[in-house]
Amino acid sequence: MRKQKLYEKLARLAVRRGVNVQPGQPLVIRADVRDHLFIEMCVKEAYEAGAGSVSVDWRSQPVTKMDYTYQTEETLADIGHWVYDREKGRHEAGACYLSVVSDMPGALKDIDASKIHAYQKAYYGLMADLQKYTMNNEGQWSVIGVPSMDWAKAVFPDLPEEEAFEKLEDAIFAVTRVSEDNDPAADWQAHDDDLISHAEKLNAYAFKELHFTSELGTDLHVGLVKNHIWVGGGCTTPAGVYFDPNMPTEEIFCMPEKTKVSGTVYASKPLSYNGILIDGFHLVFKDGKVISHGAEKEEEALGALLDFDEGSRYLGEVALVPYDSPVSQSGILFLNTLYDENAACHLALGRPYPENLQGGTEMSEEELEAHGANSSSQHHDFMFGTAEMNIDGICEDGTAVPVFRHGNFVF
Ligand code: ZN
Ligand code: ZN
Repeated sequence: MRKQKLYEKLARLAVRRGVNVQPGQPLVIRADVRDHLFIEMCVKEAYEAGAGSVSVDWRSQPVTKMDYTYQTEETLADIGHWVYDREKGRHEAGACYLSVVSDMPGALKDIDASKIHAYQKAYYGLMADLQKYTMNNEGQWSVIGVPSMDWAKAVFPDLPEEEAFEKLEDAIFAVTRVSEDNDPAADWQAHDDDLISHAEKLNAYAFKELHFTSELGTDLHVGLVKNHIWVGGGCTTPAGVYFDPNMPTEEIFCMPEKTKVSGTVYASKPLSYNGILIDGFHLVFKDGKVISHGAEKEEEALGALLDFDEGSRYLGEVALVPYDSPVSQSGILFLNTLYDENAACHLALGRPYPENLQGGTEMSEEELEAHGANSSSQHHDFMFGTAEMNIDGICEDGTAVPVFRHGNFVF
């Protein structure tokens, strides 16, 4: 592997700052077989950090595609209960989770969407009560990316292969704050502090809603739940372990009030849904619900996403990302949400993060809903931030306070 030293620094950052595995703690790594050399670095780093055990859930994108191609909806939906038991056992053992992504975007676009739907419905249904482990940050979890040739070719279709790979590789190191001569952990600390200070300012305002407008035609009011908490930077588990769930992260995010979203939003980047790229789309909200939608590409997939379950037509997240963030400045469309969501303000359809509500992580699903939170087994981010996005925060008394002008924070 070229650039060995940088990959070692990235592995160290992922393990010691990303999931921050603790002495004696089990670590579960989810990765594709194509990244086995990098995963070996992560495993080594984890054991050196004192991990009690490391298990790797290997997958293979070509095998996943064959599963979907050759299996029936029935066999795909027939998920053994051992899958649930294994995950539950890991939670009881206090495991932490590191996911490494490098998939080719759009690889599943030719697969019958109803098959993917059948599998996901069965899987998320089976695992429903286990999702809170990571959603509530009960254990540490982190997602990072490494470049792959297939991914690079999708991002830079006009470049020769080697050049495309190197360009994606350089971009990933840059936005993850890993360079030859820096201390990535220290740089991350400073960056997290900066995000936290923006979140604190917004928390002090306690806006009742945000009003977004952009040059694409977005004109959207997003109500925020009462006693909301803007969150940015790293998270802390109940046991007091600090971790960075997403690397990169440039967002501070909050919880919309389920029925208080109205207006029209135009997406500024494609949304990857089960490997399908939905592009040039807009959503119209009334009383929190998407009442109409349109897309230049893959409108049918957008419809399937919206109809997934009861809550998938309502918002679960609103996130602010400055237009001058490093991911945005790279000018690259990574075709992967981990990166692209950090290039622009985004919204998520579906499940909210309970940490965005005071006392939320202690609440039952019913209590969360009573406080205005959406409920869904899905969470799909889509980008709508632009260079000319303006945001006003609306106070309880109706006063408008400028939050963003021309795509960036004004404070
Ligand atoms: Zn987000
Ligand atoms: Zn999200």
